[in-house]
Amino acid sequence: MKLELHWQILIGLILGVIFGSVFPTTYKITDKTITQLQQQKLPPELIQTINSEKKEFEETETKFLKRIKPILGPEYYHRYNQTILKQARYNAYLPYVSWMGDLFMRALKMIIVPLILTSIISGVANIGDADNLGRLGIKTMFYYLITSTLAILVGLVFVNLIKPGVGTEIGFMSPSEDIDFGSLSFSDTLMNIVPTNIFKSFAEGHMLSIIFFSIFFGFFITKVADKYRLFLLNFFNSAFEVMMKLTNFIIRFTPLGLFGIVAVVVAETPDLASLAKSLGKYMLTVLISLTFHSVITLPLIVKIGFKGNPWLHFKAMRSALLTAFSTSSSSATLSLTMSSVNQNSGVSNKISSFTLPLGATINMDGTALYELVAVFFIAQAYGIELTVVETIIVVATALLASIGAAGIPMAGLIMMTIILTAVGLPLEGVALILPVDRLLDMFRTSVNVWSDSCGAVVIAKSEGETLKI
Ligand code: ASP
Repeated sequence: MKLELHWQILIGLILGVIFGSVFPTTYKITDKTITQLQQQKLPPELIQTINSEKKEFEETETKFLKRIKPILGPEYYHRYNQTILKQARYNAYLPYVSWMGDLFMRALKMIIVPLILTSIISGVANIGDADNLGRLGIKTMFYYLITSTLAILVGLVFVNLIKPGVGTEIGFMSPSEDIDFGSLSFSDTLMNIVPTNIFKSFAEGHMLSIIFFSIFFGFFITKVADKYRLFLLNFFNSAFEVMMKLTNFIIRFTPLGLFGIVAVVVAETPDLASLAKSLGKYMLTVLISLTFHSVITLPLIVKIGFKGNPWLHFKAMRSALLTAFSTSSSSATLSLTMSSVNQNSGVSNKISSFTLPLGATINMDGTALYELVAVFFIAQAYGIELTVVETIIVVATALLASIGAAGIPMAGLIMMTIILTAVGLPLEGVALILPVDRLLDMFRTSVNVWSDSCGAVVIAKSEGETLKI
């Protein structure tokens, strides 16, 4: 008997956790560390000091930091400890398995652009007329906005009930210099949806512009003479079929890929016990809110609003959700989301090809909720009480930030600066939550993908499709 894919994935995940725990990452200053620090232009005298600290042995994070603290002096330590820590990571065993994860991620990324292109073009061209397309578009956007707003409100309730930030020590925070906040404003992002050079967008993976172009291309296929229309329709339908076959082939390697990815994540996770002590309440608030939204809000919409069976749908989505969890990327998971929604839940390609790529890019319930909780946590930690108007601004900008966040790991953290700026909270606050962001990213990404998939089901049901769930 062949073990089902999600069980294989689960075994891969467990083995990854075991591997990562048995071979945790340690710290050691090597020649490579010094070269990297030189490239990052740390002060030369500091590099010299660090260089004289090269040791043969490896240490745990706590021991390493304790040793370098007096050597660097308080000011340098405060500024550069995270940078040095990053470059001093040392794990002799991890490379034996990390390549599996890297290779798998490369393969997933390889198929994103052609998959989106062919699926949207064939989907839209098959939808046909503008009325149908407009109706689907409006419904989809409506679902995305409503569910993201509901998610934010769930977060708002829990963060005000639990108040995780009150009494948090801001002294332990590390500087946020390592984070690249990017410079694109929200209006730039909107403008960039229309590409000047579509090939550049393909090459650089600008999802929204690719989606924009594909929708129009698909739509205008329906407007040309039959001779051309049939040829193009056939061509893109066939290309999409091939992409789905290729996707299914890559998906077979998911257990191995996720084993490699999870081993790295676990090996590189800093001491969980100490994080739990300082940020436990915050993590708990995020997790409770995410659970509420995905176990109560979304299933209720599917069940009561549209007579679907959320439990069956969840079972259909298991592999995709586990992949979202391990990769922390809705975009990388898109191929699995599409095949699960199509093949397991029975949503037609016409609907899934339109709703899912769009969802992976702009519908992020988990991220929206997380943004709100994090911003309130930061405000509470700094002892700042947000007024009603400021709360409304946070809710609105959290929604925008989640729409603008890319479906890649830790994108939500970067977008948070938009919200902090909007209500005048200190940007350094981001450093407070940085240590647990990667971990929480796994959960919020799963919720993002779960909401996308429920969206596809809801839209399909509303269009009268008979599904398997
Ligand atoms: N990692 C998330 C995603 O891909 C985005 C985020 O950072 O919140 O869906």
